[in-house]
Amino acid sequence: MSDIKILNSGDKFAHASVGSLHAFEGKQFVKDATGATSCEISFGSLPSGASVPFFHSHKANEENYIILSGSGKFQVDGEVFDIAEGSVIRVATGCDRNLKCTSETPMTYICIQAKEGSLGGYTMTDAEITERVDLL
Ligand code: ZN
Repeated sequence: MSDIKILNSGDKFAHASVGSLHAFEGKQFVKDATGATSCEISFGSLPSGASVPFFHSHKANEENYIILSGSGKFQVDGEVFDIAEGSVIRVATGCDRNLKCTSETPMTYICIQAKEGSLGGYTMTDAEITERVDLL
């Protein structure tokens, strides 16, 4: 199991890390470390041949899975499809889901869980360009 570490934080931000994804194992939720209020994010890793040991469903939150490495299969209710590095899978509420690693190497992924239908403005309908002294 991997640990999460808080690296930097301030009044308006928190920076946490699970470390190298090449060495990442298991499942790590990050909301408590960063104090996120709009979504839960988790890192997951499945060794070759493994799937999550249970199917699950969500009542209010949709999930977006982002496959970072490896490949495998994803099941939503009775439908199965192939997934691979670069895949992004959105799963609605009220259905069963699971994923399985079928590659020789582990499959690592991020799952972002947020209230279905909650996204209002986004990107340039929510953001604005601001004036700030560049300290980078
Ligand atoms: Zn879930």
